[in-house]
Amino acid sequence: MKIVIVEDAGYCFGVRNAVNLAFKAADEYGDVYMLGHIVHNESVIKDLEDAGAKVVEVLDDIPKECPVLFRAHGTTDSLWRKAQQKEMNIIDATCPLVREIHDEVKKLEANDRHVIIIGDHGHDEVSGIASQVKDSIVVATPEEAQQLPKMKRAGVVCQSTQTIENVQVIIDVLITKVFDLQVVNTICFPTKRNQEQIKQLASKSDLMIIIGSFISANSKRLTQLSREINPKTYQVNSVKDIDPAWFNGIEKVGISAGSSTPDYLIEEVKFKIEEISKSIAEV
Ligand code: SF4
Repeated sequence: MKIVIVEDAGYCFGVRNAVNLAFKAADEYGDVYMLGHIVHNESVIKDLEDAGAKVVEVLDDIPKECPVLFRAHGTTDSLWRKAQQKEMNIIDATCPLVREIHDEVKKLEANDRHVIIIGDHGHDEVSGIASQVKDSIVVATPEEAQQLPKMKRAGVVCQSTQTIENVQVIIDVLITKVFDLQVVNTICFPTKRNQEQIKQLASKSDLMIIIGSFISANSKRLTQLSREINPKTYQVNSVKDIDPAWFNGIEKVGISAGSSTPDYLIEEVKFKIEEISKSIAEV
């Protein structure tokens, strides 16, 4: 059985940097605090907890002497101000590409445009983007875009991990609603590359495996993207989710992983599929 892993599977540089910063801070200070989980992956969350990284819901729960790590996908403006007022030791892991989206929405607002964010309601990154401007509208689906009133001037950005397909169908609707529409494609380049590689590999493989947590919207989106091209696509959180029966009669397996999936989980899955391949060959 041939196994191919896409080049950009797994951690993007923003998430890798945030995880490394969390381990480094835990090592240096003993404890580091985070508001919610910095990565949507149970294995990484456990590794971080074991290293001394603690998750709290509010800033007030963080002891004054301990650092707080702000996640790769951005933090709301009000939380930044509150942490600065409290003179906390902030370790900023905000990805530079997320910061660019913050800058873009500010420019759209300064240019007198309604800000529309294509993204998941309630997602940390989307909340962080929305907090940069006085007013914004979050649209997750074309159906939601249909509900919007007519507008004279608006500007669109997207959550960094959206698929180009979802953004395109929403833009198609927005064009009918907004007279003067400016679109800034803020899907980040690691996401674009991973999506492109998945699309290519899914069309050439007999079976696709997407490794990622079921709590990760990004991993679920990649699975959906792959499944649209190759219905034999399975999402797994770890080797435990793999069913050897999937591989009967399969010659080529394609693998990718969400941006919050660590390298070792990808390696473990590859190793497991190699073992299954050997056992099938021996029968
Ligand atoms: S998904 Fe993209 S924007 Fe988000 S942290 Fe990774 S590189 Fe940065």
